[in-house]
Amino acid sequence: MTLAGKTAIITGSNSGIGLGIARELAKAGADVVLNSFTDSQDDHALAEEIGKEFGITARYIKADMSKGDECRNLIEQAGGCDILVNNAGIQHVAPVDEFPVDRWDAIIAINMNSNFHTMAAALPHMRKRGWGRIVNIASAHGLTASPYKAAYVAAKHGVVGMSKTVALETAQEPITCNAICPGYVLTPLVEAQIPDTMREYDMTRDEVVKNVMLTRQPSKEFATVEQLGGTTVFLCSDAAAQITGTTISVDGGWTAL
Ligand code: NAD
Repeated sequence: MTLAGKTAIITGSNSGIGLGIARELAKAGADVVLNSFTDSQDDHALAEEIGKEFGITARYIKADMSKGDECRNLIEQAGGCDILVNNAGIQHVAPVDEFPVDRWDAIIAINMNSNFHTMAAALPHMRKRGWGRIVNIASAHGLTASPYKAAYVAAKHGVVGMSKTVALETAQEPITCNAICPGYVLTPLVEAQIPDTMREYDMTRDEVVKNVMLTRQPSKEFATVEQLGGTTVFLCSDAAAQITGTTISVDGGWTAL
C-alpha cells in the first residue's frame, strides 16, 4: 500500500501514539507533518530523522491545540492536508465536584474542540484535491465511562459523535471520517508509571500490568503504537473507502465486556 504524494498531519505527534502513527504513515509513503505545542530542536530533529528513515518529506509545525486559531493555522501552514489524524490529548483525574475548572476547559479544548477546528480547516483542502481521510483518536472512553474522568469521557464521546456527523456530511464525497478507540496503550508515559506502582503495591511488573493497569482489558496486553499506526494506515487504504462514520476499537476486548 502506498500513500506516496499524500500529506498527513498528525496532531500531538512528538511522542506516544501520535509519533507511532506518524511513523507508520511515513512507512506507507506519506509525507508527514508532526505537531505539538513546543518548538524545540528535538522536535525538528525528530521530523528530520523520520524523513531520512522513510525517504519522505517530514516537517514539524508548532501549534497549540488548545487554541482554535492555532489549530486552523496548522492546516494552512502545512499547505494542505490529505490525511488528518487528530491525536493530541491530555488527561486529568478528579471527582466531578472537585474537578478544577481550568483542567475541564483544557481537556475539552485539546481533546475535543481541536478536532472541530482542524477538520473545518482541512475539509476544503480535501475537497479541492478530491480525496481525504480523517482519523480521530478517541478512546475506549469514547464508548464507555470510568469514574473521575468526566472531562476526558465527555470529550472522547464528543469526538465519536463529531466523527459520525462529519462522515454524514462527506458521505457522497471521496472523504471518510472515523474514530479509533484505543484501550490501554503502552506509551512512554504509561511505561514511566510502572516502577512507582510496583513500589507502591509491592508487586512485580507483570502483576502491575495485569492486575492494576489492564483490569478492564481482557487480553491482558497493551495495544501498541505500531498497531494504532497500522489501523490508521488501513483506514487510509482503498479497502476502507466505504468505512466511514464508525469507530474501530483497538482495546483487547474492553468494550466487549
Ligand atoms: P502522550 O502524552 O504521549 O501524547 C500526547 C501528545 O499530545 C504529545 O505529543 C503532546 O505533546 C501533545 N499535546 C498535548 N497537549 C497539546 C497541545 N495543547 N497542543 C498540541 N499538542 C499537544 O499521550 P498518548 O498516550 O500518546 O495519547 C495520544 C492520544 O491517544 C490522546 O488523545 C489520548 O487521549 C489517546 N489515548 C491514549 C491511550 C493510552 O493508553 N495511552 C488510550 C486511549 C486513548
